[in-house]
Amino acid sequence: MCYREGMGRAEHMLHQAARHGAPLRLGYKLEHRWTRLVGRLLRPILPEFMDRTATVVGGVIYLPLRRGALPDDLIARVVAHEWVHRRDMLAFGPLFYLSYALLLPVGWTARAHWERRAYAVELMLAWEEGGEQRLAATEAELVTFFAGSSYLWMCPGRRRAQRCLAPVSQQIRAGTLQETIPYRHILAAWRGSR
Ligand SMILES: [Zn+2]
Repeated sequence: MCYREGMGRAEHMLHQAARHGAPLRLGYKLEHRWTRLVGRLLRPILPEFMDRTATVVGGVIYLPLRRGALPDDLIARVVAHEWVHRRDMLAFGPLFYLSYALLLPVGWTARAHWERRAYAVELMLAWEEGGEQRLAATEAELVTFFAGSSYLWMCPGRRRAQRCLAPVSQQIRAGTLQETIPYRHILAAWRGSR
């Protein structure tokens, strides 16, 4: 589990994700014709697709901007988030992709369900690195993501988004989320990458 010499933090996270059944590699949206096309199609509703968001498809994390433009630490955080998506994809197969894309008539979307599972990692790392203050600030930031256009209003209304995320923060404060898989493995990998 130790941080191998010469291995960057992101590389370490990729290595650990593969060890724990979530094989992933990095790609760049600007280097593929199909991602550039999707970026053009999504521009009216999701202008940040090409230069501000990472997208995982199959085992590839497509990063925004140019190769080398993002700090290693940020890529490591992206890998930690996509690690959860990759596991869910492998466990649920086409159901993951279908439900991610579809709206469900239950007040929030299935996309919010999957993203809450993945963003639990951001909340867990915020708690790990900055305690209550960082956790609360990260939760407030995520409420905006969940309620707003970044994920096509997957959890519309700030109140609803708060109700969606608050139980995750509670589990983190209690230390119970960190005991479950994949979060236990992700946290150990993160600690080992320092
Ligand atoms: Zn995600």
